[in-house]
Amino acid sequence: RDMLLRVEDLKVHFFTDEGVVKAVDGLSYDLERGKTLCLVGESGSGKSVSARALLQLIGRPGKIVNGRIFYYPEPEEGGKSKPVDIAALSPKSREVRTIRGNEISMIFQEPMRSFSPSYTVGNQIIENIRLHDNVSKAEARNRAIELLRRVGIPKPETRVDAYPFRLSGGMLQRCMIAMALSCNPKLLIADEPTTALDVTTQAQILDLMRELQEIYNMAILFITHDLGVVAEIADDVAVMYLGKIVEYSDVVTVFNQPKHPYTRALLRSIPKVAARRTRLDPIEGMVPSPFERPTGCLFHPRCTRAVMGICNEVVPPMIPVNDHQEARCLIYHADYADAFSEKTPDN
Ligand code: SF4
Ligand code: MG
Repeated sequence: RDMLLRVEDLKVHFFTDEGVVKAVDGLSYDLERGKTLCLVGESGSGKSVSARALLQLIGRPGKIVNGRIFYYPEPEEGGKSKPVDIAALSPKSREVRTIRGNEISMIFQEPMRSFSPSYTVGNQIIENIRLHDNVSKAEARNRAIELLRRVGIPKPETRVDAYPFRLSGGMLQRCMIAMALSCNPKLLIADEPTTALDVTTQAQILDLMRELQEIYNMAILFITHDLGVVAEIADDVAVMYLGKIVEYSDVVTVFNQPKHPYTRALLRSIPKVAARRTRLDPIEGMVPSPFERPTGCLFHPRCTRAVMGICNEVVPPMIPVNDHQEARCLIYHADYADAFSEKTPDN
């Protein structure tokens, strides 16, 4: 396995006046070079926070309180890759800035977060290139035009001089990808990058990301609540609920045989997505208040298969259910499985 990123027991907590919000609470996963992992879940599941933690972009009152984020740089010729623990670095340190600029890039739902309105798109990409590479302005400009061409901007020689407000949402999204790629990242973090776009543009952007992934052997951490997008782009899927992964699987298995009751409920909500919804309110019940986390299994207040006396008392671990799949549910726990066997499975 060609490891790029290994997250171990990551915890990001927010210390607010009303109490501690455990936004990310014991997250672990691996990501290999050139692969795509999708983090899926409702809003409030900790997906975005966990992604920002990878770049040490957690602002106060948030804090990484536990865990390691091992990043494996490209090894020297013939050598072995020596991992760097990003979680142990200070947010302002040179190491973090180097990783942020050269190794890991992030794109967001709102491209305006990546561009300043008062400079041309081209200038900003050129600046970004020159920040990481010691090249002339003319050379950087040529590269910027080439990048814009790559991401499917028509007439890039002209558009390079456009101000952001001159471009449509879809175009700006492409420019943001060009900007993110301008440092040749090994990992692209994409936080709901296509949510605001129409279906056609969304499909084009996903195609583009896959194409660029192949060219650059770039890994993608893709954050979304849209399972249609997951089916399009994921190799592996991590379903998150209240700051923890509740199911981890390869994409084919999770769609064919979801194991966790939460994943099953999410999958049942797909037809609603197809019927032209941008935001899904996927399943019965509310996400609990961030200040009052349920006892036992965090999902038990909403779970159709919950058995009281067990699910509200026992904290489920991640349990391997087959070679490619794990679920954080006591149905798969040898000590408790019997208590569930009377009930019919709910998929
Ligand atoms: Fe549902 Fe119980 Fe499994 Fe939690 S442990 S997901 S409450 S069946
Ligand atoms: Mg989010």
